[in-house]
Amino acid sequence: MDGKQMRDQARVVVIGGGIAGCSALYHLTQEGWTDVMLIERDELTSGTTWHSAAQVTNFGMSQTMVGLKTHSITLYKELRDDPEYPVGYNYGDGGIRLANTQAQMDGYRQFTSMAAGMGVEFEVLDAAECARRHPLISTDNLLGGLWDPTDGHIDPAQLCQALARRARLAGAEVNRHTPVTRLTQHADSTWTVHTEKGDVRCEIVVNAGGYRCNEIGAMMGVQHPVASMEHQYFLTEDIPAIAEAGHRMPLLRCPISDYYSRQEKGGLLLGFYEQDCRTWGMDGIDPKFTNALCPDDLDRVTDVLEGAFARMPVLMETGIREVVNGPITYTIDGAPLVGPIPGKRNAFCIIGLRAGLGEGGGHGWLLAQQIVHGEAQYDTWVIDPRRFTGHATVELTALKAIEDYQNEFRFHFPHEHRPAGRPMKTTPLTQVLISEGAEMGTVNGWERVDYIKPTQDFKETLGFKFNEVHDVVAKEVTAISTNVGMTEVSGFNRFELTGTDVHSFLDRMMCGTVTKREGRVGLGYLLNNHGLLKAEATIANIPASDRGPARVWYGSAAASEYHDMDWLKAHIKADEDVKIRSLTNAQTILVIAGPKARDVLSMTAREDWSREAFPWLSVRETHIGIAPATVLGVSFSGELAYEIHVPNESLHAAYVALRKAGEAYGMTLFGSRAVESMRMEKGFLHWKSDILTEFDPFETGLERFVQLSKGDFIGKDALEKRMVAGQQRKLVTLVIDAKHAPAHGGASVRLDGRIIGTVTSGDWGHRVDKNLAFAFIEPEFSPVGTTMTVDIIGEAFAAEVIESGPYDPEYSRIRS
Ligand SMILES: Cc1cc2nc3c(=O)[nH]c(=O)nc-3n(C[C@H](O)[C@H](O)[C@H](O)COP(=O)(O)OP(=O)(O)OC[C@H]3O[C@@H](n4cnc5c(N)ncnc54)[C@H](O)[C@@H]3O)c2cc1C
Repeated sequence: MDGKQMRDQARVVVIGGGIAGCSALYHLTQEGWTDVMLIERDELTSGTTWHSAAQVTNFGMSQTMVGLKTHSITLYKELRDDPEYPVGYNYGDGGIRLANTQAQMDGYRQFTSMAAGMGVEFEVLDAAECARRHPLISTDNLLGGLWDPTDGHIDPAQLCQALARRARLAGAEVNRHTPVTRLTQHADSTWTVHTEKGDVRCEIVVNAGGYRCNEIGAMMGVQHPVASMEHQYFLTEDIPAIAEAGHRMPLLRCPISDYYSRQEKGGLLLGFYEQDCRTWGMDGIDPKFTNALCPDDLDRVTDVLEGAFARMPVLMETGIREVVNGPITYTIDGAPLVGPIPGKRNAFCIIGLRAGLGEGGGHGWLLAQQIVHGEAQYDTWVIDPRRFTGHATVELTALKAIEDYQNEFRFHFPHEHRPAGRPMKTTPLTQVLISEGAEMGTVNGWERVDYIKPTQDFKETLGFKFNEVHDVVAKEVTAISTNVGMTEVSGFNRFELTGTDVHSFLDRMMCGTVTKREGRVGLGYLLNNHGLLKAEATIANIPASDRGPARVWYGSAAASEYHDMDWLKAHIKADEDVKIRSLTNAQTILVIAGPKARDVLSMTAREDWSREAFPWLSVRETHIGIAPATVLGVSFSGELAYEIHVPNESLHAAYVALRKAGEAYGMTLFGSRAVESMRMEKGFLHWKSDILTEFDPFETGLERFVQLSKGDFIGKDALEKRMVAGQQRKLVTLVIDAKHAPAHGGASVRLDGRIIGTVTSGDWGHRVDKNLAFAFIEPEFSPVGTTMTVDIIGEAFAAEVIESGPYDPEYSRIRS
């Protein structure tokens, strides 16, 4: 607001004027909110943005990431072509992600299929074609690569200025040289943003503070799981071979030696992800660090430098012109935090961006949609700040940031759980299960049994095909379906709801009628204001006992704790008597499943567990041996099964009692990979794999959980409007004629080559002996018996729509 007085009020204040803040501000105006303000402590782009290598790519590991990057590219092209303020954008140099293993190539084929569903065309190249398109590279130790034709790079300062300019023209205010010093939240959840130049009263604040996001977080009592790493690139002198090539060099990303490159003028820019990497700013950041760089240290990157020189021998005779070393932010899983700040009202963030130039346009877009409409057009769970819960400290983030940095271009394989920061969350059984042979994975920081290793030195070969774990899982499933098995489900989310209005409250939150009967359990779905699926919960009505008054347990997926808590709390009315507390970290579930499960339970708990006394969908407090426990008669496996919820201090005692009782029945242990296979056979869905905010319950095949006649509930009006408009997609179960690999989430479903849908989950169903997948497809192709193809690692395989839940469709086993 140069020269003019800063306003003292705005609907939204965005703190930080890097790409994140500028993009958020611009997109808020695009979504129709023009009473918005950006406050920047120094000049725009004076944090990380000014010195970014600023490569813009379309590659992403999920359709949401691909979609938001596509938005960036489309927007940047528009800004490039703006005659009044054209932004320097080298669009379409193309880019290659290299590979030297078959598994990496398989991954590229899968990602190509996934991106195609978003209208983005990647290409998988062999080594010779890579070298043809990038004449500086050698083909030694190279299998091929993934080609992204749209890759390019942008001028970061011009980009931010252009976004700020457009936002200003739409009515937004930009205040530079105005450090935010304090934040005060008022009783009505509005804020005062205190700055060195005066206070601003606003409804909503957005933290876009880059590597200073935790300084701003501290002003509202929040620690964001964001840590910074030092990151270096250098610029070379001109390389004659580039001029001779007659075309611009494509971008390169190398998972073999952890570097990237792009053309810069007549030379190259090379950036490095060295093993000997450094966190930055962990103990505070000098307030004067602005428009600044870290001291460069090329000695540290010699390991990866050698790889880059071997791939591009011309570098050995090329001089270095300039070195840049700057801080770059990381989160626990590498994706940024874009959305509502957990536990806060009217507070959002767009932080932890490590590829902020490529992604920033899209993140600002999806954030603005969330702020203005409550939800973005894509399901944003992959970037949702609430996907991590209490364990997500800066300390843990630093460990994961180092690990991520060291593996920058090595994507995660299916079922890969990397070791840094583990074990993070454990139960009293974790070590016991490991000593019994359990291979552990992680879910929201919790160690959880993946499968039981057949031998001590058993090791899984990570990749996209069925591997040696396939048979291990088959045996676990057989043991469960013919006998009985046990597993631990750590970290399952569990809220206790008490108060006189709990049931009327839940009735308003859920789109169906969930049982209110004491001692009974029901499954329900929560919609957002657009009539789309927000959450899924198991409701257990626990009668009053010596453990407390009558109460409701709300159970949901392990990672949903902060997400669901915020949603529920935001909807409790001032005059409603509803109290919620989380028991997530206090209790753990032991599941026993299989035809002999009742016998095992009866051996350990004194009550009558007969089908008549304790039918499917019952809940009862009891003791397993000496351990207090709450048993739910529910099943995710499709077999007779019990969820036994035990306070952590008694978990070992309950486990020992069940193990002992199980001996008589040959009870074995199993893991979540077996559960994953079995739930596919039952047509049971996973929140955030198959249950997404992009679809309503009818599209998701959950119509039996909707009751429009019951009165008002959140999302009802919008759902009714959607019903009139007609379904856009329909979730179906497919059987695929392939034995070598499952269909992976994101894979395209095609009819005569045309994409008609996308896979959400896929796995082998061992009991039905079929390769199964769930997919959202165009509704006209959803009738049972319709044939189509599904891409598996880039190849099309015949598939047919079948009834959902092919295993025991009568539910006779669960009810037995
Ligand atoms: C060497 C290097 C190379 C990179 N290369 C690429 C690349 O090729 N492609 C790519 O996509 N990404 C790249 N990145 C990453 C990318 O640059 C960042 O993700 C992006 O710039 C982050 O933008 P930001 O807006 O989140 O943070 P910043 O640019 O740091 O902006 C945050 C702003 O907040 C302001 N601020 C902080 N505290 C306050 C306060 N209290 N009051 C007011 N204002 C405040 C700061 O002054 C700053 O301007 C690279 C990063 C580095 C370091």
